[in-house]
Amino acid sequence: MAIQIHTSARTPPERDWRMAIGNGLRGRCPHCGQGKLFKGFLKPVDACAVCGEPMHHQRSDDLPPYVVITIVGHIIVGGILLAEKYADWSMGMHMAIWPALTVILSLLLMQPVKGGVIGLQWAMRMHGFGGVPDLPERQPLPPTVRPS
Ligand SMILES: [Zn+2]
Repeated sequence: MAIQIHTSARTPPERDWRMAIGNGLRGRCPHCGQGKLFKGFLKPVDACAVCGEPMHHQRSDDLPPYVVITIVGHIIVGGILLAEKYADWSMGMHMAIWPALTVILSLLLMQPVKGGVIGLQWAMRMHGFGGVPDLPERQPLPPTVRPS
């Protein structure tokens, strides 16, 4: 007995999130993997120059810094613990190495992580990446006349 699965004709096909995140991590368009994703350090392009996929509606917000803090925090804390156990560094050496390494790693990871987050959003069809426009932003209320 065959089992038939009925899906809605309006259900869009799934997107490969691994490929999309990988393309984003490399700073490439999550859709085609060819066009550049960033026009500045953390400023995405408005649309892909190769496939035309719009990027202006991406909303990565605070997730990339949270992910970078988690990654860098684990590396730095692990490094400090290993250095304390196996090396005999002076406090000045610790103060010279760990803050500088924290800043360098954070700057190196921020753009790839943001690209990965945008890739994930594209794969999950979030924030307008599914072809359906996002809800309009809440607009500020017009100024009201205060009774005097
Ligand atoms: Zn593209």
